[in-house]
Amino acid sequence: MPQFTNVKVSKVSEQTSLFEEALKPLKRAANIVNLEPDVVEVLSNPEQMLIVSIPVKMDDGRIKVFTGYRVRHNTSRGPAKGGIRYHPGVCLDEVKSLAFWMSVKNGVVGVPFGGGKGGITCNPKKMSEGELERLTRGFAARIAKFVGLDQDIPAPDVGTTAQIMGWFTDEYCKIVGKIVPGVITAKPLSIGGSKGRGTATGRGAFFATLEAAKTFNIPLKGARVSIQGYGNVARPIARDLYEMGCKIVAVSDSTGGAYNPKGMHPIELTKFKTRTRSVKGFPGSKEITTIDPITVDCDILIPAALENQITKKNANNVKAKLIIEEANGPTTPEADKILHERGTIVVPDVLANAGGVTVSYFEWVQNRMGYYWSDEEVDEKLKQAIHKAFKAVYQNAQQYQVDSSKAPQQSLMDLRTAAYVTAIKKIVDAMRALGRI
Ligand code: GLU
Repeated sequence: MPQFTNVKVSKVSEQTSLFEEALKPLKRAANIVNLEPDVVEVLSNPEQMLIVSIPVKMDDGRIKVFTGYRVRHNTSRGPAKGGIRYHPGVCLDEVKSLAFWMSVKNGVVGVPFGGGKGGITCNPKKMSEGELERLTRGFAARIAKFVGLDQDIPAPDVGTTAQIMGWFTDEYCKIVGKIVPGVITAKPLSIGGSKGRGTATGRGAFFATLEAAKTFNIPLKGARVSIQGYGNVARPIARDLYEMGCKIVAVSDSTGGAYNPKGMHPIELTKFKTRTRSVKGFPGSKEITTIDPITVDCDILIPAALENQITKKNANNVKAKLIIEEANGPTTPEADKILHERGTIVVPDVLANAGGVTVSYFEWVQNRMGYYWSDEEVDEKLKQAIHKAFKAVYQNAQQYQVDSSKAPQQSLMDLRTAAYVTAIKKIVDAMRALGRI
């Protein structure tokens, strides 16, 4: 298998990589449950990492070579599961972090999977459909032996779509000579995709918001919501929260943002973005930057773009009382500490955005059975899964609370550490049962 050594490392600061930062909550949770340092060391290293080069014939006739990755972090609880990202910032360090977060997320929400992730360093916004198809087929061919129904099951992530999953399925099935729709999830419905998968991440985040609002007494009617990253995962939650009486006061995407304290209609925003490819310039709104939604005056903040958006530089300016992390890794550990000290409730990514992989699990189950569920069944099962996961995380936050003399939000352990405690216990139990540690 081709391996490259000159890989880029995404820097959070001059000293540390994203992966090193990603391991910090693991180390905190490990201390709480008295996990042996050797076991922490095992969990701090992905099981396998594959790096491939993918030559693609571009529309102008030239051949361009792309770099692709698939990382399997831990497979004690089941086959590796996690998406594939197409983005210019993709590098090994990022894919390792994303794979690690998938192990934790799958543990939190209780789907029988380990964690994996993949990605290709590319800019899908600047590629034609034909180029994207050839890139995807090339990637599928390179990683076909690494993935599989009982090994490692990809899905979409930032920059990838149901159509990309369709091309991947086709290429994989041709290579293995079998029809295996369950090798990848979030496919189009016509080839075995699950009902509800397209909106599952947003729907799961919505259910997590309902749980948090109920638990922490945050009224949703009239709540002002700010969303960073108005893409596929943000639109369903914007619609659901709007229907609950929330006001969408700020949104942004990679081109800029829109702010209107009176509120913006999510469906109109979607139509506008589809037409103009940007939320910038939405009628009646004031223009803001991509990062501004993090610090605008609001009650609920939903970072739904990329990692490292809430940092020690802007955490003190966050006005929201509740943060629902739809993106993976949007808050740095330093920012996390600041937010917790200020009493901001952060529903962490590994819980808040677990709806996507939960319905991916449902899809995988349906593919294996060859029997398909209705929208209602999928939605109800997702709601139950998020309810159960939230309850378990909250119970851990109460059990390991830090200082009962403080206000409830500050006396509780932060929900991220509580989520890691929930997941780590399950992963370590599985590792011990297998005799791996
Ligand atoms: N990429 C999504 C995530 O980060 C979905 C993964 C999946 O469905 O396997 O959770």
